[in-house]
Amino acid sequence: MDNNKPCYKINDALQELEMLAVNAKEAQQLILTKILERNQASEYLRKFMNGSTNISTFMRNVPVVTYDVVQPYIARISSGEDSSILCGERIVELLRSSGTSRGEPRLMPAISEDLDRRTYLYSLLMPIMNKYVSGLDEGKAMYLLFVKAETLTSSGIPVRSVLTSYYKSPHFLHRKHDLYNNYTSPDEVILCPDSQQSMYCQLLCGLVERQHVLRLGAVFASAFLRSISFLERYWCDLVNDIRLGKLNSSVTDTACRLAMVHFLALPNPELADELEEICSCGPWRGILGRLWPNVKYIEAVLTGTMAQYIPMLEFYSGARIPLVCTMYASSESYFGVNLRPLCKPTDVSYTILPNMAYFEFIPLEDGLRVTEDDEVVENDKLVNLVDVKVGCYYELVVTTFSGLYRYRVGDVLLVTGFYNCAPQFKFICRRNVILSIDSDKTNEEDLHNSVTRAKKILEDRNYILLEYTSYTDTSTVPGHYVLFWEIKSTSEGVTPLDAELLESCCISVEESLDYIYRRCRAHDKSVGPLEIRLVEAGAFDALMDLLVSQGSSINQYKTPRCIESGLALKLLNSKVIASFFSPRDPEWTM
Ligand code: AMP
Repeated sequence: MDNNKPCYKINDALQELEMLAVNAKEAQQLILTKILERNQASEYLRKFMNGSTNISTFMRNVPVVTYDVVQPYIARISSGEDSSILCGERIVELLRSSGTSRGEPRLMPAISEDLDRRTYLYSLLMPIMNKYVSGLDEGKAMYLLFVKAETLTSSGIPVRSVLTSYYKSPHFLHRKHDLYNNYTSPDEVILCPDSQQSMYCQLLCGLVERQHVLRLGAVFASAFLRSISFLERYWCDLVNDIRLGKLNSSVTDTACRLAMVHFLALPNPELADELEEICSCGPWRGILGRLWPNVKYIEAVLTGTMAQYIPMLEFYSGARIPLVCTMYASSESYFGVNLRPLCKPTDVSYTILPNMAYFEFIPLEDGLRVTEDDEVVENDKLVNLVDVKVGCYYELVVTTFSGLYRYRVGDVLLVTGFYNCAPQFKFICRRNVILSIDSDKTNEEDLHNSVTRAKKILEDRNYILLEYTSYTDTSTVPGHYVLFWEIKSTSEGVTPLDAELLESCCISVEESLDYIYRRCRAHDKSVGPLEIRLVEAGAFDALMDLLVSQGSSINQYKTPRCIESGLALKLLNSKVIASFFSPRDPEWTM
C-alpha cells in the first residue's frame, strides 16, 4: 500500500460516524447535558431553569423561540456586556446569517470550539466521497471559495459570515495537507476580500492546472455558476495571462499577485491555444468537461432554493458530470452530511450528526402549514432527533453550546429514513421564503411591504396596482427578481405610464427589501436589477382561470405571490406589454 494515502484516517472517520449514528440517542443526551452544565449560570438559562441542569426541567420550562427573543441578548453582548448572559464560554465572534429580522441580518453567537465541530463535519466529507469515487487522491480540487468583508461590534467582537470565519481560522489555514485536500486555489487568493479579483485568480489557477483537476465546486451552486459566467466573460483575459506568463494588471491585491507568481512562472502558449480553442468554440454546453477533462464530479449545495440552478449546471456540464451535494449547515450550527453523495440532487437526504448540537423538531401537522413566528409552540409538541417519523415534515429547532436554546432555525425538513438511529432528512424549504437567488431570502411579507411602499408612487400619479406576483428569473446571470404588475388608471386623461415612473417603482421595491438582498445587489453583485413586467388588463383574471382549472378552489383562491414555472409563468409572460429594470443599485451600507 502507498504510505502517502491516509486510508487509516478515512476508515477511522467512517467508523466514528457509524458509532455516532448507532448511539444517536445517547450522543444527544450527552450533548444536552453538557450544554446545560456549561451554560447553567447564564442569565438566559437561569430565567427558566433556576440554576438546574436537569433535562426534564429544560424540556418543561425552556421556550421555543425565534430570533426576536435572542436579539436583545446579542445586542447587549455586541455593545460590551459579558458573554455570560447567554453562555458559559466567551463568545468570540458573531456569525452573520442570511436570515434577517426586521431587515437586519441575524447574528449568531459562536464560541471558539465551534470551529472544532465544523472541522469535524468537513473531515467526514472526503472519507464519504472516497467510498463512492476512487482515485480522488490522484489530483486536485478546483473549489471556488470566497470570504466576505467583516466588521467589529462596538465592543470589538468580529462580525463575519460562518464561511469567512472558517477560511480565516487556523483549522483551515493550518490544515494538514494530504492528497485528499489538494486545492488549486492558494489560501491567499481565497482570503482576498475583493471577490472579483479572487474569482479571477482562482479560475486562472484552475485553468493552469486543468489536467490535474478531479473535482470542481463551490459551497453553493449560485457561486459556482457565477464563477462560470465570469469565466465566459473574461476567458480572453485569462488565456492571455497564461500565454504571456503575466497576471492581468486589474488584479491589484498584493497577496494575490504574490501567490499567483508560481502559476504564471513562464509563458505557456500551448496551454493558451488549447483553452482558446475550447472557449471560443460554439455554445458553452458541456464546457466544464472540455476544460477539465478529468473531472469526476461537481460539488455544491443544490438542494432547497439552490435546486433552481440544476438545469444551468447540467447545461455547463453537458449532464455528464455527477452533481454532488455533500452537506447541510448554517450559521447557528452545522447539521449533517449526505451519505449517498452520488444520488440525484433531487433525491438528496442529509443524515443529521448527533454530536453537532441538540436537535428537536416541531411537527408540521397540517402537511406543510408552518407555525408563524409569533405563534407559541408548546414545549410538549417537540420531538427528539431519534423519535421523528419517516414521511413526516418538521421544522428544525436547535440548542447549541454557544447560547441558542430551542431556537427555530426556520428550515422545513422531511424525514426520509434512518442511518442506524440517526434520521435522514430531505431539505424541503425555508419557512415562508418565496424568492431567493443567492443568500437573499425574501418572504411573502417582505415582498408585500416593499410592493406596498412602491405602489404609492403609482397612486400619486392616479394609477393603482390591481394585482402582482413574483418570480425568480435565473435564466440571467446573476439571477434577478421579476414582479408581474397589472396596473389600472383611476381617472380619465392621466399621463401615460412612462419608463421613469416604473423604474422608480423598481428601485423603491429594492430599497425596502432587506439588508441581505441589498447587499447581494449592491455589494456582492450576486443578484441582478429587479424587473417589473407590466401585463395587459385581465392578465390576472386569466391566471385565476388557469389555476382554478388546475384545481384551486374559487372560494379560497388567492393570487399566488410567487409563481415558480410552468403554465402560469407562460401565461403571464404571454401577457407582458413592457418591462422595466431598476436603474441603479439600492442603498447598502456595511
Ligand atoms: P446561513 O445561516 O446564512 O449560513 O444559512 C443557512 C441556511 O441555508 C440553512 O438554514 C438552510 O436554509 C440553507 N442551507 C444550508 N445548507 C443547505 C443545504 N445543503 N440544502 C438546502 N439548504 C441549505
